Amino acid sequence: LFITFEGVEGAGKSTQAKMLYEYFNNKKIKAILTKEPGGTKTGLKIREILLSHTDEKFTGISELFLYEADRNLHIENVIKPNLEKGINVICDRFIDSTLAYQGYARGLNIELIKQLNNIATNGLKPNITFLIDIPVEEGLKRIKNERNIDRIEKEDIYFHKRLREGFLKIAEEEKERIFVIDGTKDKKEIFKNILNILEKKFTN
Ligand code: C5P
Repeated sequence: LFITFEGVEGAGKSTQAKMLYEYFNNKKIKAILTKEPGGTKTGLKIREILLSHTDEKFTGISELFLYEADRNLHIENVIKPNLEKGINVICDRFIDSTLAYQGYARGLNIELIKQLNNIATNGLKPNITFLIDIPVEEGLKRIKNERNIDRIEKEDIYFHKRLREGFLKIAEEEKERIFVIDGTKDKKEIFKNILNILEKKFTN
């Protein structure tokens, strides 16, 4: 299976992705845990470019191209080869982040992003996506003390609000694939919800 986690800053998606990876390990279910941007060696360099502060004009379109380049390298070098070997792939952020960040929050054309996503992935989509949803104020409060704030996390509150609304809209459009999870709950309870959904959907 190809499983992705999405959400706004501080939603807890990386924690849940890691919990699922550990759960699979304990059950001896083969899986890898990977992320975007930066799921390959070259991708890590792209990630650094994307997240560092710069005094140059960083246009949305160059940002978009870098994310899609990162994604294509990731698909070809990591995601596809593992899926072909029957190994489950758990990915922290994927195509929906690009739609939400560069599309709904940054304002680039949604159809264009869908097309570029499709080119970068060769049409490969996750089997299931968990959108960990929390109010943006809460997410931003959580990250404030935890890490150095990157270029995007520094955007104003309206950017983050558009982002959350965007994610919810994407989920609404793809109900079969994307499951919205209440991220304000305790992390063990959130994980239980995720496991329930996985079991219902993939075990008969
Ligand atoms: O999830 P993670 O913290 O690794 O994401 C790194 C950064 O990249 C975050 O600040 C996120 O806001 C940003 N990002 C973005 N556009 C994407 C994916 C991630 O601006 N498509």
